[in-house]
Amino acid sequence: MSNILITGCSSGIGFATAVLLAKNGNIVFATMRHPSENTELRDLADNKNLPIIILSLDVTNDDSVKNAMAQVLFHTDKIDVLINNAGIGAMGAVEELPIEEFIREMDTNFLGAVRCTKAVLPRMRQQKSGCIINISSVGGRVFNYFNAPYCSSKAALEAFSECLALEVLPFGIRVAVVEPGVTDTPLQDKCKSQIKESVYPNLERCVAFFSAARDHHIPPELVAESILKIVNGESTHFRNPTGLDSVPMLGFRASMSDEDWIAAAGVDEDTWIKMMEGMNLDVRKYMISR
Ligand code: NAP
Repeated sequence: MSNILITGCSSGIGFATAVLLAKNGNIVFATMRHPSENTELRDLADNKNLPIIILSLDVTNDDSVKNAMAQVLFHTDKIDVLINNAGIGAMGAVEELPIEEFIREMDTNFLGAVRCTKAVLPRMRQQKSGCIINISSVGGRVFNYFNAPYCSSKAALEAFSECLALEVLPFGIRVAVVEPGVTDTPLQDKCKSQIKESVYPNLERCVAFFSAARDHHIPPELVAESILKIVNGESTHFRNPTGLDSVPMLGFRASMSDEDWIAAAGVDEDTWIKMMEGMNLDVRKYMISR
């Protein structure tokens, strides 16, 4: 039985993970920005008698992180696992997105994880044990057009996780990264709705890429299962790609040179469609021009 703190539990992967970990006998401190507006998890926990304690936590706010940590330490003196899950995404061309979008994504997806990690480390170091699980993305290693804020924030999270893993190893603390592919959560629609017209070509390809990837999407409960395996020690991998598309996409990207990957933005449509088939993505049916 572990005491587990999770960020971003109002929906999607955070919600599913809170439920699965609690069902497996762990005490879950499920945090979210607006607990009074999101009562679904609280209601479920009450109905099923699950050991889930709901706390308020906005990962972009130092005081909020400190307050949440103080509340966890009021309930227990041991924090076994931190899951940095809270995340946002927006799509658009670098030139056309406001700088505020980059700041918002870095602050939430990257610095939010840094803040929460710094808050748990003193206790984990004292305990000489602990596990920090960062929810990255395939987008943390496969970089695509119209996705710069998100991919940059997740790449930063990946680098941070690896640096951290080296630092905390002598204290018996473990770090793991989960890299979901496309997962059926509200995040997908939040990103999609922000795609507008662009003076940049390839927007159609970008939309087709994500639509085709959504054909293979997995439910958030499958990502929760990957996380459970890390918590249980069943997976001892540092990086944990999760989902039907994640391993093919990561493998395909790794098989190409950087130059060939970038050159793909300039190839003709048939060549691009074939490339995407190499990633197991059927983009053809989503190309309006076809
Ligand atoms: P989701 O359902 O939209 O969940 C995101 C969660 O993050 C929500 O609970 C949201 O809370 C919370 N959040 C956003 N900003 C926050 C802040 N400042 N402080 C605290 N919580 C905040 O999407 P999801 O797919 O489950 O995303 C969970 C994680 O998985 C993210 O890190 C995402 O990047 C990653 N991921 C998702 C996919 C995918 O295809 N869905 C793929 C790879 C990786 P509010 O309700 O308050 O907004």
